Amino acid sequence: MPSLPYLTLDKDVRQLRQSDVEAFALQIGGGVLGRNHPGFDDARRVWNGTVDRRPALIARCLDTGDVQAAVRFAAGHRMLLSVRGGGHHIAGNAVAEGGLMLDLSGMRAIGIDAVRRTARVGPGALLGDLDREAQAHGLATPLGINSTTGVAGLTLGGGFGWLTRRHGMTIDNLLRATVVTADGAVRVASATSQPDLFWALRGGGGNFGVVTEFEFQLHPVGPEVYAGLIVYPFARAREVLRAWRDFTLGAPDELSVWAVLRKAPPLPFLPTSAHGAEVVILPLVHSGDVETGRIAAAPLLQLGDPLGIALGPTPYAGFQAAFDPLLVAGGRNYWKSNNFSTLTDAALDVTIASAARLPGLECEIFVAQLGGAMGRVKPSATAFVGRDARYIMNVHGRWSDAGDDDRVRAWARQVFQAVAPHATGSGYVNFLTDDEGERVATSYGANYARLQAVKRRFDPDNLFRMNLNITPATVPQLQASP
Ligand SMILES: Cc1cc2nc3c(=O)[nH]c(=O)nc-3n(C[C@H](O)[C@H](O)[C@H](O)COP(=O)(O)OP(=O)(O)OC[C@H]3O[C@@H](n4cnc5c(N)ncnc54)[C@H](O)[C@@H]3O)c2cc1C
Repeated sequence: MPSLPYLTLDKDVRQLRQSDVEAFALQIGGGVLGRNHPGFDDARRVWNGTVDRRPALIARCLDTGDVQAAVRFAAGHRMLLSVRGGGHHIAGNAVAEGGLMLDLSGMRAIGIDAVRRTARVGPGALLGDLDREAQAHGLATPLGINSTTGVAGLTLGGGFGWLTRRHGMTIDNLLRATVVTADGAVRVASATSQPDLFWALRGGGGNFGVVTEFEFQLHPVGPEVYAGLIVYPFARAREVLRAWRDFTLGAPDELSVWAVLRKAPPLPFLPTSAHGAEVVILPLVHSGDVETGRIAAAPLLQLGDPLGIALGPTPYAGFQAAFDPLLVAGGRNYWKSNNFSTLTDAALDVTIASAARLPGLECEIFVAQLGGAMGRVKPSATAFVGRDARYIMNVHGRWSDAGDDDRVRAWARQVFQAVAPHATGSGYVNFLTDDEGERVATSYGANYARLQAVKRRFDPDNLFRMNLNITPATVPQLQASP
């Protein structure tokens, strides 16, 4: 009888009987794809073009029952298991080479309760799906800044964006999650049900089970907000970034101003002479009243002579997709990320020197302004511990030719090392690459031991290991909860 080779959790090669594969496929609503199926290559592709892995099987789940069947199948065969939400994580852990990939992209349903201001969201939904549905009611919850990112992975790692200073991180707005744990059971986690699991899900990534539905708190936002970009010449980077940093220290929570150092894209409001030249871009969103936003942001227009300004009343959901053209799927990417509690003049000088050596048109240094509501939550309140990060700096190595792999990666690593002495030493698991497993424990800091204890309770065999992995505690540390 024919059999299918696969990789176990320990990366040994074993065989699946064809009859077992066929019986499994009957349990999965969207079917199971093998390597010879049409659609296999599309289904295994993720956002980062450097990720080229071939699972043994892809289970296209359509509901919680499908997810239970897939988790039980993987556990029963000790099969390496990966979970794909939106497929955006830079490390590519959504795809298990030789293993079983749970593809949740068919579970994109969203239900808005405009009276309670809540959203129920499927694990395959993208940020743009949720923003579109919630904005139809003038509502939103804090999400990231690229509309094709998955809600699931973003939420489980923490989640921040333009609304974070005002309304907290995505996890601070998570009310409830339905989870299939490693034993195949369905559990509902909230402040009152499975509180340890709920704590761990809010920042602990995909370590504790497969979330099949999220429920979020929504807030009135827009639909028009004061938003846009101010672009300064690179020659003024030093004074502009220092003034921006000082401005951020006193900015109201409604206003978030980020800083991006890159070569200018051919934006229509920039002189053509600036296209392709290094620039400093200050993208901003004020999520309150438009006129109040205009007044609050006005000082940023006077930091020097801007090369171009594109600011004004803007649909919130539209601005959530403003960076999409720069972040299309399939490009080759290698990112490095540091958290900062302060940005000293020395840190800014190192950053500017690094931006003077950008290795390509698509590479950039991206600094998110955080703080506000995010920093008012205790670090122990959720698994995400980095509440002191007032800025997160991402070094985005992005290119298209595989021949440039080493050169661009080396630049990203050099920038990361150069700014590291000025950073907190902590990281954000949603931005860690596949060669940064050693940063997981430091990124969780004082919360790591509790995460290991919860991991031991819900996933003692580490079935969910294709992620920024939290290893199960070796001795029991927590009381069992109901
Ligand atoms: C272009 C771009 C822009 C970004 N911008 C932001 C930003 O503004 N703010 C921010 O906070 N982050 C941002 N991120 C990082 C983003 O939050 C992470 O990449 C996140 O993991 C993406 O989630 P996903 O579902 O798309 O990814 P996937 O690759 O599908 O999933 C990542 C991991 O999450 C786990 N996972 C996914 N779905 C589930 C589930 N249903 N149940 C259990 N585990 C699951 C798995 O371990 C999986 O390996 C950005 C990333 C990119 C590439």
